[in-house]
Amino acid sequence: MIQGLRSIFRTGRTRSLKWRLAQLNSLIKLLDENGEKICQALFEDLHKHNMESYVMEINMCKNDAVFNINNLRSWMQPQQVPKGLLNKMDDAYIRYEPYGTALIIGAWNYPIQVTLLPLIGAIAAGNCVVLKPSELAPKVATLLEELIPKYLDQECIKVVNGGIPETTLLLEQRFDIIFYTGNTTVGRIVMAAASKYVTPVVLELGGKSPVFIDGNADMNVVARRIAWGKFCNAGQTCIAPDYVMCTVETQEKLLDKMKVVLEEFYTTNAQTSESFGRIINARHFQRVYKLMEGANIAIGGQTDESDLFIAPTVLRDVKLTDPVMQEEIFGPLLPIVPVRDHQEAIEIINDREKPLAMYIFSTDKGLVRTIKESTSSGGFCVNDTLIHAAVPTLPFGGVGNSGMGAYHGKFTFDTFSHKRGCLEKSLGLESFNSLRYPPYNEKKLGW
Ligand code: NAD
Repeated sequence: MIQGLRSIFRTGRTRSLKWRLAQLNSLIKLLDENGEKICQALFEDLHKHNMESYVMEINMCKNDAVFNINNLRSWMQPQQVPKGLLNKMDDAYIRYEPYGTALIIGAWNYPIQVTLLPLIGAIAAGNCVVLKPSELAPKVATLLEELIPKYLDQECIKVVNGGIPETTLLLEQRFDIIFYTGNTTVGRIVMAAASKYVTPVVLELGGKSPVFIDGNADMNVVARRIAWGKFCNAGQTCIAPDYVMCTVETQEKLLDKMKVVLEEFYTTNAQTSESFGRIINARHFQRVYKLMEGANIAIGGQTDESDLFIAPTVLRDVKLTDPVMQEEIFGPLLPIVPVRDHQEAIEIINDREKPLAMYIFSTDKGLVRTIKESTSSGGFCVNDTLIHAAVPTLPFGGVGNSGMGAYHGKFTFDTFSHKRGCLEKSLGLESFNSLRYPPYNEKKLGW
């Protein structure tokens, strides 16, 4: 299959603007004509409400495809670069070229978004693609395998379904770029496999994204924005606020408001709320459940394993040594870690791996600047959560343990394009060029 993709790539079919636009338009058609089916699959895999499915999966991909269609012609243009005296008469430019055949490996939590957004950029950049959806969201994986060949060029874009054995086999093959979304442990496996052929990799990983709340912030708004970012998709969002740091006094205020907000969002019994999701499978249920053991539960804490349900839960007075602070939670638990002040929060952040996102709630611009300039994270968002990922003109990606490379909007096109530095000279002006040839002498050096 991969040999087939490589030879079709060599024909140049995927390089034309016409082919790229046709594929992107067909992808929009796929999303338009199959919204209900996609929502149904997302509901069966993750108990996602249609609204979350449209806003965070279907429409996000559609908008990105439209953005690509509207800008692709100009993105594909060679970019002229400034030249020095030596190249005054020459043509120096960057050409955006497809790598060739791309492997895209997706995760299960936003199984449409994390497979189709990279696919859009890979197509826009003119690549052939093998798409490997996550086997942990099986309804969506099956649907993608059914729909993509119906709408997209079957000879250039393939869907391969399967689990670890199939992915391992794929990773043994030679690709020209690998784009992986998932956990950091598997990210290392992908990177090691890519090294065999020195294949470039993009790793969209996870981590513990911190929140710092300054006492001056309006707690009504803070509680709502954190609750939404944390508990949508039952906390299974790569950039979900993982834990909150604030003073003991702010903790009390936040807990009061959080209780009200969670009832407003999900009623007093979130299990009966259509707006609240489920844990993806029994293994992850057990993992998240164990993180609650011995914790000081301030809100929530109810579970039902037969329904893979864990209530929106807030943990108070959490210590850095508690189990919930040792790994990315990826579930509906929100620990609050009391800190003395923002300086202590900065130390805690810097003692840990670089997170995928960082959230500050404050009206004090000086404090925001201090935290921003003293830390590092994939993305940074003030007075809200998640929403920075919806700005298509911002790069989305991690740093350090939370990943490498970025995408969304034009950044996806850039990620899937090799930037070929080109210089076109004439054969003239040889006497001028001769200055660099041997025999070398002091006179030439002086020039
Ligand atoms: P997952 O279990 O679906 O794994 C991701 C992919 O890796 C799947 O396609 C799977 O088949 C493959 N895979 C799993 N084990 C493998 C192995 N041993 N060898 C080769 N391939 C293997 O998803 P996950 O890792 O549980 O996803 C959750 C993680 O992904 C979280 O850490 C989350 O933060 C991160 N995530 C990051 C982003 C982002 O954009 N940065 C988006 C979504 C999720």
